[in-house]
Amino acid sequence: MRPIQMVDLKQQYQKLKEEIDAAVISVLESSAFINGPQVHSFAASLASYNGARHVLPCANGTDALQIAMMALGLQPGDEVITPSFTYIATTEVIALLKLTPVFVDVDPKTFCIDPKAIEAAITPRTRAIVPVHLYGQAANMEEIMKIADTHGLAVIEDNAQAIGSEYIFSDGTVKKTGSIGTIGTTSFFPSKNLGGYGDGGALMTNDDALAETIKMIANHGQSKRYYHDIVGCNSRLDTIQAAVLEVKLKHLDAYIDSRRKLADAYDQAFQGQPGVTTPYRAPYSKHVFHQYTLVLDGIDRNGLHDYLASRNIPSMIYYPVPAHRQKMFESFGSSATSLPVTDWLTERVISLPMHTEMEQEQLEQITTEVVNYINKQY
Ligand SMILES: *Cc1c(COP(=O)(O)O)cnc(C)c1O
Repeated sequence: MRPIQMVDLKQQYQKLKEEIDAAVISVLESSAFINGPQVHSFAASLASYNGARHVLPCANGTDALQIAMMALGLQPGDEVITPSFTYIATTEVIALLKLTPVFVDVDPKTFCIDPKAIEAAITPRTRAIVPVHLYGQAANMEEIMKIADTHGLAVIEDNAQAIGSEYIFSDGTVKKTGSIGTIGTTSFFPSKNLGGYGDGGALMTNDDALAETIKMIANHGQSKRYYHDIVGCNSRLDTIQAAVLEVKLKHLDAYIDSRRKLADAYDQAFQGQPGVTTPYRAPYSKHVFHQYTLVLDGIDRNGLHDYLASRNIPSMIYYPVPAHRQKMFESFGSSATSLPVTDWLTERVISLPMHTEMEQEQLEQITTEVVNYINKQY
């Protein structure tokens, strides 16, 4: 049996080797390393996959969030409502731009931002909401868009963990996550559901004017060569990454299927285990299982992590410290914010290996060891 990994990128590459190698070699041969034709064709393919009018590639998912906030013209002191229960990138760029992060709690079932908490946090200074589709589960976008419309707020969807997920509105309309808010952002970090072989990211929007602004900001604020109208940055997707991503995008739906099947198998194995809550699948969306995350109550979570490690089974705590308890945000006084669900989950979540190359034997070993540990605790 191969060693178990959180994400098995080597095995995935072996299966795509011919296609990927040919795509990378063609970039090397053309030597169009920056803004080569693959960058544009990948952006067009992703736009059509995601049902967005514009996809603007950039250097990584963190830049995508930053550029989104710059493009919306947010000004120092403007308040941005965001979950604390997320990867640091979502919240860090808010502070970097001297905006004010307003951390709100998440829904204990979906792990995503709680619409009621958003409403309660709105002030005259609120300008934007940044929902995160955490672990591949979409946030409640219907409610969030209603709140945003009522209060005239922009919505930036952090879709780094949920590319390919679908949101089903109550009138039956289906939209892919990332294409619902004012701007959607994503990351092509290698371990993401659509991952490159290095860094990469993208923004998407249906707004033509915003798309133009985003393009300018990502390219030194340039309107034409050497004419810089606004302050921007330098954030590009490499041609080699675009070539890899174009190959992998064709497999994304199959990858999502295999993640969902693995999640089904985990669900079945843990069904009825005392103290274990398997991931909730909101009826309004298609979960794409970037992570398979259990909530353990009355079970020593860190003990399980160590026990699995001693059996060569990796597991991860996403994330051990929520944003509002990070030193980075001390000056905002955010540690005094009361986010009971976030704190409760932080002590209890554990993510198991989740990828597209899991073997039956590996799956059995993981589930057997998890169940063994739980039984020892009860
Ligand atoms: C990965 C990730 C990002 C940042 O992506 P990078 O490409 O690593 O900059 C942002 N938000 C979330 C929720 C992520 O998981």
